[in-house]
Amino acid sequence: MKNIILTGDRPSGKLHIGHYVGSLKRRVELQNSGKFDKIYVMIADAQALTDNFDNPDKVRANITEVALDYMACGIDPAKSTIFVQSHVAELTELTFYYMNLVTLARLERNPTVKAELKQKNFELSIPMGFLTYPVSQTADITAFKANTVPVGEDQLPMLEQAREIVRSFNGLYGETLIEPKAVLPENKACLRLPGTDGMAKMSKSLGNCIYLSDSADEIKRKVMGMYTDPNHIKVTDPGDTEHNPTFIYLEAFSTQEHFAKYLPEYANLDELKAHYQRGGLVDLNVKKFLNAVMQEILEPIRLRREELAKDIPAVWDMLYKGSEEARKVAAANLADVKKAMKIDYFADR
Ligand code: ATP
Ligand code: MG
Repeated sequence: MKNIILTGDRPSGKLHIGHYVGSLKRRVELQNSGKFDKIYVMIADAQALTDNFDNPDKVRANITEVALDYMACGIDPAKSTIFVQSHVAELTELTFYYMNLVTLARLERNPTVKAELKQKNFELSIPMGFLTYPVSQTADITAFKANTVPVGEDQLPMLEQAREIVRSFNGLYGETLIEPKAVLPENKACLRLPGTDGMAKMSKSLGNCIYLSDSADEIKRKVMGMYTDPNHIKVTDPGDTEHNPTFIYLEAFSTQEHFAKYLPEYANLDELKAHYQRGGLVDLNVKKFLNAVMQEILEPIRLRREELAKDIPAVWDMLYKGSEEARKVAAANLADVKKAMKIDYFADR
C-alpha cells in the first residue's frame, strides 16, 4: 500500500498559530521525512462556502492567504501538491454517492458539527451543505486514496465518519476505498490550542487568533491582552496554569533554549509553572516571555510570507498546476468507484 497524505484547511480566514501547532508543523515534518509517496494539501473552498455561502469574496480572497501561509511555513509545492477543492469536480460527485451510505441521525450526532451548529446559530435552520460536510471530507480523503490525515483534535469525528463510509462502501461494492487514519500532534497542548480569550479553541470564526501573518506589534498587543487566570488578582495569589492560555501556549511553543535566552532565572517551564502556582509571579512577566517566544517563531514565517506575497500571480499558477494534477488523480479514483458501483456504463466506449 502507498503512503499518501491528504490534509487541508478552509479559506475562511488566514491561518493562525493553532493551525501551526495543530497540523501545519506536522505536515512539513512529514513532507520532509521522505516517508510518503504523495502529499495533497487542499484549500477547502467548497467546504468554506457551506457556512460562508453569502460571502464568496471572503472565501476567494482567503485562498491566496492560505496558500501564502502554507508556503511560508515550509509546505513546498515541489514536494506537496497544493490544490483548490472546487476545481476538482470529481469530489462533488463522490460526495453524492457517499450520501447514500450515511443517515441524517448519524450526521446530527457528530459532536464537532453539533458544536459548530450552535456556534453559528444554525440550529433552527441548518443548511444541508453544512450538515453534510463530513461526507464531503470523506470524498476529499478517499479520492486520493489517502491513508494518513494530519489534523487537530476537532477533526477526529470526521475521520471516524470517513472510516464508517469506507467500510460501508467496501462491504457493499467490494474492496475499493482505503480506510484513513488521523495523525494528531504528540504535544497535548497542541491538540486544540485555546483562543487568546481563553475560549476552548482558537478559531478563525471566533476572532481570538494570533495569525501567522500578524505584525510584531500585533503579536505583542494580542499576547499582552491575553486572558489568564481570573482568580490570580494579587501577585501573591496562587495561580492556575492548567486552564491559563498563556501557560498552554508556552507548553505548545517554548523550548529549553527559549528559557536560556529570554528567562534564564528559570531552568524550564516546570519551574516557571511552579512559581506561578505557589504565587508571587506577575502575569506581565509570563506574557513578556511568551511574547519573546512567539516573536522568535513567527518572524521568519512572516518574512518569508512577505517575500512570497510580492508575486501573487505565481501563487495562482502554482495552485492551478496543483489543482489540475489533483483532478487527474481524483478522476482515476472516481472511475474505480463507479466501476465498483456498476455505474461505469460507458467506460469501454
Ligand atoms: P473555522 O472557524 O472556519 O472552522 P478553523 O480555525 O477551525 O476555521 P479549519 O480550517 O476548520 O480552521 O481547520 C484546519 C485544521 O486546523 C484542522 O485540522 C483543525 O483540526 C486544525 N485546527 C484548527 N484550529 C485549531 C486549534 N485551535 N488547535 C489545533 N488545531 C486546530
Ligand atoms: Mg474548523
